Amino acid sequence: MTTQQEPFPLDLSPDTIVELGRQAVELVARQVAGLPDAPASDYRDVARLSALVSRAPADGPGDFAALIETFRQAAEQGVNTAGPGYLAYFPAGGLVSSALAELLAQAANRYTGVAQTAPALVAMEEGVLSWLAGRFGLPAGAGGVVTTGASAATLSAVVAARHARLGPPSEDGGGADGGGPPGGGGPSGGTMNGTMYVTEHTHYSLAKAAQIAGLPAGRVRVVPTTADLRMDAGAAAAMIAADRAAGLRPFLLAGTAGSTSTGTIDRLGELGRLAREQGMWFHVDAAYGGGFQLTSRGRAALAGIEAADSITFDPHKSLFLPYGTGVLLVRDPAVLRAAHAGGGEYLQDLHEVDGLPDYGQLGVELTREFRGLRLWLPLHLHGVRAFEEALDEKLDLAGLVHRELSGDPRLEVPREPDLTVVLFRLRGCGDERNRRLLAEVNASRRVYLSSTTIGGAFYLRLCVLSCRTGAGRIKEALRIIRSAC
Ligand SMILES: *Cc1c(COP(=O)(O)O)cnc(C)c1O
Repeated sequence: MTTQQEPFPLDLSPDTIVELGRQAVELVARQVAGLPDAPASDYRDVARLSALVSRAPADGPGDFAALIETFRQAAEQGVNTAGPGYLAYFPAGGLVSSALAELLAQAANRYTGVAQTAPALVAMEEGVLSWLAGRFGLPAGAGGVVTTGASAATLSAVVAARHARLGPPSEDGGGADGGGPPGGGGPSGGTMNGTMYVTEHTHYSLAKAAQIAGLPAGRVRVVPTTADLRMDAGAAAAMIAADRAAGLRPFLLAGTAGSTSTGTIDRLGELGRLAREQGMWFHVDAAYGGGFQLTSRGRAALAGIEAADSITFDPHKSLFLPYGTGVLLVRDPAVLRAAHAGGGEYLQDLHEVDGLPDYGQLGVELTREFRGLRLWLPLHLHGVRAFEEALDEKLDLAGLVHRELSGDPRLEVPREPDLTVVLFRLRGCGDERNRRLLAEVNASRRVYLSSTTIGGAFYLRLCVLSCRTGAGRIKEALRIIRSAC
């Protein structure tokens, strides 16, 4: 029997933690320092690295420095979503202060599925949630849950809306009937008869949530938009009336505060009024636009969001946090609880803590990582004004891009940005030529743009939202675009 110490026992000694931590944090610092010069995209070494990283782990210990070096190289392949040139799918950059919070939270590894096991940490997360709810104008008592992203938050919002407006699903697939058509408890009634209303620009996570929640296909109604790509409230009202007349049960109206394709914000005030008149749940998808609520321009653009029954918001988009942080806010957390609560004998030792929620009862997850610190630490460390100013800067930069591209006679720039998404295409050229323009711009490896389709036509799409994108990179992007035209 050997007493020889393995280099890395499962529980590291304090000295080893400091040493490995130093190496890891130095790597982080080097990576961040290298971002301005790093390629915006790079696929040159994918094959070698994929073979290297997919090997099975050895029985014996490895070398920490070599292992994190492998990670560093693997992370360099693909699109550099943390860099200042990333102008594609809702970039965020990823605040390092939040990554440090994540290290602390994960190392502490406290249990926040219920409040009793970590009440002060749950209070920390709850403080961020109620602050956010206040910034959206929701009443005192509003709350919610921090999720992995808006898709998970949306699923819980749809399930809560269904529960609140159609009643809990019963064994026959129907639902407790609260005033629906006769026979509402049967297979053709109750929950099965629910309909929700979106537009073609609504994020597909709404339809996905409906599908996972078991809504029959076709019950997600696509309401036409007006010429400015916003939901046509009159058309929605007509569809809701027709559906009711057909024995269906309209239960959810979804407005978007910043659509993914074009960044367009629905007329939220109008939609909120319609939902209230109809007794429907008003959901606002602010996954992208939500952070701008901290700015005065954003508040003006999102006016009406305060009437929402539920709001989804992605701090990993417009609060610049690393991926994996979404928020669901609800006007009445009791409704969320009613739709998600459960229990088991093994939980009998737990009791509720006054004034604090058990997050395991508010969402899909029971055991969950403590996500509060990754919001709390950056907000308290940098201060709210730093976020407001950074978001104002992104609005200014998007305005600059719009002005400059609009002034180029070769380009067609169809819309003024509601927030920070600018669309453009070469005037008088087909989609193929515009696709080539995008490929050429991205081949610069200094910026990375995406595209979308509006009314059947291909548009290049430039979104300013990374905490690291400043005026310098935007001017460079404009030069690259112009010379590729
Ligand atoms: C990104 C996005 C989503 C989905 O959010 P995830 O965090 O990717 O799950 C939903 N709605 C809108 C408008 C989005 O932009």
